[in-house]
Amino acid sequence: MPKQDPMDRSHGFLKKNLETMLHKKRIEYLNQKLRGIAQYAYRNSVAFKNKMDSIGLKPRDIQTIKDLEKIPITKKIELMELQKKNPPFGGFEGVPITEMRRIYISPGPIYEPGEAEYDELGWAQGMYAGGFRSGDIAINTFSYHMVPFALQMVDNSLHMIGCISIPMGVGNTEQQVNVLKNLKANAFCGTPSFLLNIAEKAEEMGLDFKKELNLRVGFVAAEMLSESLRSKLEEKFGMIIRQTYGTADMRCLGYECMKKNGMHIPDDKIVEIVDPQTGKQLGPGKTGEIVATTFNKVYPLIRFGTGDLSVLTETPCPCGRTSPRLLKILGRVDQATKVRGLFVHPSQADEVASKHPQIERFQVVVTRKEHKDEMEFRIELREEIPQPEKLKEEIEKSIRDVMKIRSDVQFVPRGTIPDGSRKIEDQRTWD
Ligand SMILES: [Zn+2]
Repeated sequence: MPKQDPMDRSHGFLKKNLETMLHKKRIEYLNQKLRGIAQYAYRNSVAFKNKMDSIGLKPRDIQTIKDLEKIPITKKIELMELQKKNPPFGGFEGVPITEMRRIYISPGPIYEPGEAEYDELGWAQGMYAGGFRSGDIAINTFSYHMVPFALQMVDNSLHMIGCISIPMGVGNTEQQVNVLKNLKANAFCGTPSFLLNIAEKAEEMGLDFKKELNLRVGFVAAEMLSESLRSKLEEKFGMIIRQTYGTADMRCLGYECMKKNGMHIPDDKIVEIVDPQTGKQLGPGKTGEIVATTFNKVYPLIRFGTGDLSVLTETPCPCGRTSPRLLKILGRVDQATKVRGLFVHPSQADEVASKHPQIERFQVVVTRKEHKDEMEFRIELREEIPQPEKLKEEIEKSIRDVMKIRSDVQFVPRGTIPDGSRKIEDQRTWD
């Protein structure tokens, strides 16, 4: 009989006592955590104290998840405004700057307090549920500089599980393939599209995927993963790929288990699905904005609106985890969308257009070809111009400057873009 794999990737839990709590016990557990962080944040985060005081709330008014409804949702734009008024963190930090280990910078720019002592339970739970096991050797291909994801979140989570991390960062596809081969790395952390780039490069280099590469598990984030791309990559490499969802400020908010049954909410957050207009909590099965509360004392964001839309389910998952699950990310409240892993906001498109008075009307169209995002800036000009190619180049440059992303620019005849159309038209399908 062949020897059994010492690393059974399909069963088990990272924190069984938390992940299999019965519903009632989980609610009690989260309520207790909530009371703790509400008191802590009121004492230590100026922004939270001001918010509570402005509506006459005291920490003792926040006893249960239902009580969260009393607190107005903090939106990213408000965070950015408060950071400008009260730099660098807008009073959202929960410790003095001298007690932070790192400071991160996300597009905006938004300055984020980096944790001194805080484990990344959520992402680690996601990695474990996705088949990562102690002893795995992982290439981490997320960006290590400025933003917190690769260094703070992914690297720490690998360490928590007992995996060995190879801090590759973004790009250098050929080198990534060589590292996979030479170090027999069996785990991948990165975006699905970058894993596809690696597959294409390895093919180009003439490698035998099953013999010369050893990938077994993939932890992907920052982009939507379509089922067709998942199965293509899983088959090519002979690996398991599971996706996770989260944001820079909130960390992990959902992860897939082996059953691919939506995304389990990790045990270090409270996630509400709310009506974006009223802020009231919606029950399972209803579409609303994902609003989250962390228990992170360095950066205690309470009732932070992600701007993402989803639906929650509480039906049992056959994997044995009892946490509720986000069924799918259904888009953005504010029409922003993610292209090649980066957020593209309607306001950014406006900013690009405002730099070029020749533009009468525009629309950004996002499509997907062979598992890759494509973006096109369709523009109606005010009048015919002598050197359209030159203007095209200038607009392409503005797009790169403002949106940090490459896009095609297409001049279309006047009247092509319909009245009242969306500024960003997402035509991608994810099947
Ligand atoms: Zn499950």
